[in-house]
Amino acid sequence: MHKILAQIFLITVVLQACKPGNSSNVIEFNPATHTFSNIKDVRTKHLNWEAIVDFDKKQVDALATWSFENLTKAKFIHFDTYDLTIRKIKVNGKEVQFFLTPFLESYGSGLSIPITEKDSIVSIEYTTGPKALAMQWLAPEQTAGKKMPYMFTQCESIQARSLIPCQDAPANRITYHASVQVPKGMMAVMSAKNPTEKNEKALYDFDMEIPIPTYLIALAIGDIEYQAIDERTGVYTEPSQLEQAARELSDIPAMMKAAEALGGPYRWGKYDVLIAPPSFPIGGMENPRLTFATPTIIAGDKSLVSLIAHEMAHSWSGNLVTNAVWDDLWLNEGFTTYFERRIMESITDTSYTEMLWELGYQDMQSDFATLGMTHADTRLRVDLNKRHPGDGFSNIPYEKGAVFLRMLERNVGRPKFDAFLNQYFSTNAFKPTTTEICLVFMDKHLFEGDTNKRNQLKVREWIYEPSLPDNCPHLTPSRFVNVDAQRKDFETSLTASKLNARNWSTHEWLQFLRKLPRTLSLEKMADLDLVFKLTQSGNSEIADEWYKLAIATGYEPAYAAMTDFLSRVGRMKFLEPLYSEMLKTPKGKEMAKKIFEQARMNYHPQTAGKLEKLLKAS
Ligand SMILES: [Zn+2]
Repeated sequence: MHKILAQIFLITVVLQACKPGNSSNVIEFNPATHTFSNIKDVRTKHLNWEAIVDFDKKQVDALATWSFENLTKAKFIHFDTYDLTIRKIKVNGKEVQFFLTPFLESYGSGLSIPITEKDSIVSIEYTTGPKALAMQWLAPEQTAGKKMPYMFTQCESIQARSLIPCQDAPANRITYHASVQVPKGMMAVMSAKNPTEKNEKALYDFDMEIPIPTYLIALAIGDIEYQAIDERTGVYTEPSQLEQAARELSDIPAMMKAAEALGGPYRWGKYDVLIAPPSFPIGGMENPRLTFATPTIIAGDKSLVSLIAHEMAHSWSGNLVTNAVWDDLWLNEGFTTYFERRIMESITDTSYTEMLWELGYQDMQSDFATLGMTHADTRLRVDLNKRHPGDGFSNIPYEKGAVFLRMLERNVGRPKFDAFLNQYFSTNAFKPTTTEICLVFMDKHLFEGDTNKRNQLKVREWIYEPSLPDNCPHLTPSRFVNVDAQRKDFETSLTASKLNARNWSTHEWLQFLRKLPRTLSLEKMADLDLVFKLTQSGNSEIADEWYKLAIATGYEPAYAAMTDFLSRVGRMKFLEPLYSEMLKTPKGKEMAKKIFEQARMNYHPQTAGKLEKLLKAS
């Protein structure tokens, strides 16, 4: 997933015991692995999912039939569920009584079903509930075409359980077949083999025959059409933005070539991208075969496509080699961020990727500043026991993880590091992995078992200690030296029209705006706006930085456009910093409350919840 900000609440976890039960068959919530399931005893292997999607009731009626393997002659199979109404359960064709534990906020209810050692199939008839965190339902007016409603899911980290009763732990992998009935005129797509055209009956079949963790199950339904980019890549989105999206993403085949050169063959068949409606809560989600992405990356000049490189890289780090528990998220996100920069280096040049590294470094520093350098969450391997996995999604696993790998690459040399990376993906493919497994692999392939070498590079300090070791590579990109010099001149004497910014990329603009003092005069703000039309910027990243500066300096001419931006866009990366900036003053607080009331219906339920909490706490 692309940097979402941590949501969610700290929860006192209560262990729920199943009745009646002997000790080996008690259903209890495991606060370290965030699941009720008993995957050490019984493992689900394949899902057959028959679903009818009802847009009026905003719910899914479904029959989930799971094939499973009973590894320890267990007497029960345990599932995760979240706000599901379960009507009937059959085990090998015979109806059985089941037990649901009391509801735990954020985690749901454990579902315990009796089985014998001969059983291998359980079918669960159920309906999803109004609290389902995986789904966002949009009214027609919230879409680009404004004609049909839309629904999309976001199952990472532990939301799949609100869509399907499942063993919702990344250490388990499953295959699936799905048959989904949607309203006529709409198309459904999943993280699976997808249709490329709408069909008359609006009944769609899907196969994901490669085993995936449940957080990678995904579904989107709407007025969706497809345009191929080449024989294995393409774009799905609403008709009115299809051509523009396909143009913007035309470098995907080149990215894929670069990714395969580094990670080894792409193993998932097709690679397509779904451009979701603007309220999509995060940048992108690496759903296998079909990345879901925010439309805010469509800037018109391909300047924000590194996000696609990121999601594509997850086809290796994350989807192929998966963190076994959420404490090891850096194995998914740090490796992916490093991999993303390498893809971008291949399709651009080092002067370009140096800028990406620096902006990422600034994001990481901003989290160090917020959390404090010695905060336990600044370690790469974090402790999410008794905490929601969403708490792990700061910039640290992404950027500290990536720069750690960069440090290793610089010290052992690129050829050796690349050989390690390739070997790491092929050896651990389709397996859950842990920090410890990764370290053993590094010892063997990077250090030839020489622990002195490893200690010299402070590898354990990087992973298990807070803060940033002193061997962190950090350079000021050459293209930013020029930007910084011009910014200083602008702060003191230069007028905006004299700035030589014509050839600046998005990244140079971000560097310029981020470093301007928050005390910049209104005259200087107006001058910049007049020359560069920043208030009306169609580039979401630039607009976001500009609005932050506008709030800090009190530059009111930008407020109407910012309000519009906050009402259209649901991407947490933009929303939280803007609302936080407003909350710094009493006047801004009033404005934030007013905007939130108007805009909240466009936000994903999790995003709205998080912002509501932020507003209340201020
Ligand atoms: Zn990611």
